[in-house]
Amino acid sequence: MALIVQKYGGTSVGSVERIFAVAEKVKGYRDRGDQVVVVVSAMSGETNRLIGLAGQIDESPDPREMDVLVSTGEQVTIALLSIALQKIGCPARSYTGGQVHILTDSAYSKARIRDIDAARVKADLDAGRVVVVAGFQGVDEHGSITTLGRGGSDTTAVAMAAALKGDECQIYTDVDGVYTTDPRVEPKARRLERITFEEMLEMASLGSKVLQIRAVEFAGKYNVPLRVLSSFEAGEGTLITFEEESMEQAKISGIAFNRDEAKLTILGVPDQPGVAHKIIGPISSRNIEVDMIVQNISADTGSTDFTFTVNRGDFKRAREILQQTATEMSAREVLADDKIVKISLVGVGMRSHAGIASKMFEALAKEGINIRMISTSEIKISVVVDEKYLELGVRALHEAFELEREI
Ligand code: ASP
Ligand code: MG
Repeated sequence: MALIVQKYGGTSVGSVERIFAVAEKVKGYRDRGDQVVVVVSAMSGETNRLIGLAGQIDESPDPREMDVLVSTGEQVTIALLSIALQKIGCPARSYTGGQVHILTDSAYSKARIRDIDAARVKADLDAGRVVVVAGFQGVDEHGSITTLGRGGSDTTAVAMAAALKGDECQIYTDVDGVYTTDPRVEPKARRLERITFEEMLEMASLGSKVLQIRAVEFAGKYNVPLRVLSSFEAGEGTLITFEEESMEQAKISGIAFNRDEAKLTILGVPDQPGVAHKIIGPISSRNIEVDMIVQNISADTGSTDFTFTVNRGDFKRAREILQQTATEMSAREVLADDKIVKISLVGVGMRSHAGIASKMFEALAKEGINIRMISTSEIKISVVVDEKYLELGVRALHEAFELEREI
């Protein structure tokens, strides 16, 4: 007998038929003798619909009331799923986040979970019931409803699994696992049987939107084995877990990419202490996140160039700020380019294998793709290239590292 937490996303509960299908699936596990906690999202489109309603009244509605509003989507699905479970003869009980004491801080729309009181859920499980919990929501110390950020039901599921010391947290979604890269870009992309938390974090933060990043962080921290699988097709999905010594590790697990990048360069700034801070400081203090940073080797001229990337949504603002800095510093010129993308190779195997970077650069060179910027970390190498080379670059790397093959 295992204790399993399952999470079903918006598309998986998008209609009454689908809710019935979920109920059947859940019942299957319970009939097998497992204890099952189910966390559900709102029906697909519902959260956006609610946000839209408020938007018709006020452009920037009160955050507290927004959380009261958007949390209702999940309250609908927990009730419908419980009704469906009962209908097919499976005892079930639904709870909102507040009812099972998912205690969070008071940061509306992006609250963090502090504590969960699992006693009530345990009692239901021991009484043979399936427990259905609303994803995405919690309650703060004053009893106000909070929500955990878009995609937050993943985090609810992981937190429930951690609190209950569950054997596995299964995230059912509309894809059947985590892929070596986006199959829409490289049709030869292959489903990974397993991937480490560290790699998954890199893949997620670099733009593979399978799981909420926070959920992966949480799972890694509390050592909750996470499995991503399809709610529509049978299959093992992808297990996200700790690195095991015995695991025959592929050098590279996957290729992530991010289209939302833009690049800014300031030319001819004095090469002296404090320049980096003068350039980046005003950008960061406006809450614009700076990602890659490159400072050129200074020639004897005593001046240097400085390039960095920001999210494309922040591009215009960042350029304005930089132009102002350029004037203040009497820099020569500001160059701006929002037609760039970032492609990254990710793999814990990089730690123990040399030559990955050179192989990556070779593969890109063969296709005539110019690399604009490079950054590396222990388990990742990222390059910035022109937007038009995204597909070509991803495919070239997928091929060069033979990612279509099972190891
Ligand atoms: N319904 C919420 C959203 O759309 C939470 C979730 O689906 O995980 O972001
Ligand atoms: Mg979702």
